[in-house]
Amino acid sequence: MRVSVLASGSGGNSCVVESGATRVLVDAGLSGREIERRLRARSIDPESIAGIFVTHEHNDHSSGALAFSTRWGCPVFTSAGTAAALGLEGDLFSPFVRIDPGRDGRIGALGFRAFATPHDAKDSVVYAFEADDARLIVASDLGRAEPEFVDFLRGATTLLLEFNHDEDMLRDGPYTWFLKKRISGGWGHLSNRQSGDAVRAAAGPRLRRVVATHLSRTNNVPALVLAVLAQALDRAECPAVFDVADQIRGFDPFDA
Ligand SMILES: [Zn+2]
Ligand SMILES: [Zn+2]
Repeated sequence: MRVSVLASGSGGNSCVVESGATRVLVDAGLSGREIERRLRARSIDPESIAGIFVTHEHNDHSSGALAFSTRWGCPVFTSAGTAAALGLEGDLFSPFVRIDPGRDGRIGALGFRAFATPHDAKDSVVYAFEADDARLIVASDLGRAEPEFVDFLRGATTLLLEFNHDEDMLRDGPYTWFLKKRISGGWGHLSNRQSGDAVRAAAGPRLRRVVATHLSRTNNVPALVLAVLAQALDRAECPAVFDVADQIRGFDPFDA
């Protein structure tokens, strides 16, 4: 299984997951044209995308989904709530495939499963993909990492996991009180500490790589994330490599 990140952060999220001849997008939070441009820059034909797995309706995950889906004729896989929020449900000709959290599905060579997340969206989920003895988790935009979520991460060979903010930087930073409360609350985003704890608890012998995603440009810096990850993996005695995905550059393709 191969994965590459096209963009990561509140300015837009999208990544490509593929195995054999099956290739999908997870989220499409850039314009349809921009996704197309970034795919071509990686020598990927947009027409080869078999589906778009949307995590939730927030713009930074969904803004290009309908345009890309229409232009390239690929369906949108998402939860019923997200589909309703995006105006997909009820349209007879809608290219919508419903995902039920906790139930295994398959598209070509990729097995998948969604996990329902606590986030201030309609029916948000994150995804696991399985192929070729690899298990990839793409998880961002959740306010807390409960034991069920840590279980969902277990057995992964690759984690793309949100490290949204440093708690001190958020507290002392320029955001309004309301926004600080939203981000740090149980329906907001995972902090470096929360995600570090989750990695430490979930890291097992199969884990090969962790890529931190969805970093806040205002309330986080890569150096802090890397330090948290180094400590979490060290404490778990896990030799996985780790890195940070960039809003603009994303993350180059690698084997999950
Ligand atoms: Zn987001
Ligand atoms: Zn969100």
